Amino acid sequence: MSGSFLTETEERSALRAAVAALGRRHGRGHDRESLWREAGKLGYLGVNLPEEYGGGGGGITELALVLEELGSAGCPLLMMVVSPAICGTVIARFGTDEQKRRWLPGFSDGSLTMAFGITEPDAGSNSHRLTTTARKDGDDWVLNGRKVFISGVDIADATLIVGRTEDTGTGRLKPCLFIVPRDAPGFHRTPIDMELHAVEKQFELVIDNVRLPAGALVGDEDAGLLQLFAGLNPERIMTAAFALGMGRYAVDRAVEYAKTRQVWKEPIGAHQAVAHPLAQAHIELELAALMMRKAAYLYDAGDDTGAGEAANMAKYAAAEACVHAVDQAVHTLGGNGLTREYGLASLITAARVARIAPVSREMILNYVSHQSLGLPKSY
Ligand SMILES: Cc1cc2nc3c(=O)[nH]c(=O)nc-3n(C[C@H](O)[C@H](O)[C@H](O)COP(=O)(O)OP(=O)(O)OC[C@H]3O[C@@H](n4cnc5c(N)ncnc54)[C@H](O)[C@@H]3O)c2cc1C
Repeated sequence: MSGSFLTETEERSALRAAVAALGRRHGRGHDRESLWREAGKLGYLGVNLPEEYGGGGGGITELALVLEELGSAGCPLLMMVVSPAICGTVIARFGTDEQKRRWLPGFSDGSLTMAFGITEPDAGSNSHRLTTTARKDGDDWVLNGRKVFISGVDIADATLIVGRTEDTGTGRLKPCLFIVPRDAPGFHRTPIDMELHAVEKQFELVIDNVRLPAGALVGDEDAGLLQLFAGLNPERIMTAAFALGMGRYAVDRAVEYAKTRQVWKEPIGAHQAVAHPLAQAHIELELAALMMRKAAYLYDAGDDTGAGEAANMAKYAAAEACVHAVDQAVHTLGGNGLTREYGLASLITAARVARIAPVSREMILNYVSHQSLGLPKSY
């Protein structure tokens, strides 16, 4: 791996500029499918995947850069967080040769997509309480359980479902990961009516005696926790990139507006009460971006433990920076901040997603309290 997270290599700057140009061509109000297809064709969706499977041979650093730039142009691709980042990483690191051949080239060129399902209605933030269960039946697996808030199940060819094997009565999570095709018999999905203006929908899933062949299990039944964690750091780094892109988009719109809107003798941006909060939002986004790049750098260098702490902090910082940036951007536009024409009001709910998912702000504060500071647990 070349470069550091403090300065960008020429290659990465060129990638950033090319993705930004693609983003500008599509912009807000884009058609998700055509942007996904074009980004796939240009190799942007699989920049992190191995070259032998059609990927770019880069890391999460490059993938996060792509998502951040698309987001800052107003056209983030949410499925990048799950398909190439989580599912691509887990399959590339732990999948069988057959799984790699089946999925990675399609993730790389965007022709295949995989959703990721871990959240359950009765487990929520406590993944030790997952109850989706896999039972062995001859060579097959039979899966039963429920999931909630799973993004993009309708547009994904399959969903990577986190379950647990039946014989683990210890209460400790012994997860295992299964690839469940979209139309597998017994795999039922119902869209959840979200207050989100996003093209990717969230679904409640009922997994009712879904029968899967042995080859649906990703990697090793006994190494599930390791495999799951391998996907979670990229997920956090990518969520940070998603939030940073959105935050940058909002600040840019507000700055443009503040430079031209004039109701007294100077544009409103000349008033420090308007300018300072935007400067503050910019600083917060830059600080969070630095932590995101550190997390990606550590992850790409193979330091999973160091990356874990940095990825949590980056996700936290980016989500908070994004929520503040969007709030300030909406306020800067006055009444226009709430019109559909200017398109900022809908970001108020969208920005909150990064604060809740994939792990909530409080669960990150718990992690830092326990892991970084050594404070006792309350639960
Ligand atoms: C738009 C969107 C897309 C999503 N996409 C996916 C997806 O593709 N795949 C997937 O698997 N999941 C997805 N999720 C689910 C998301 O990861 C969960 O919503 C999240 O993990 C929180 O779980 P919960 O909603 O059950 O909240 P709960 O766990 O019920 O938490 C509710 C509140 O209580 C707080 N809380 C809980 N426990 C503690 C504690 N010990 N200490 C302090 N505070 C606590 C939380 O911080 C939170 O504020 C998505 C969610 C959203 C909103």
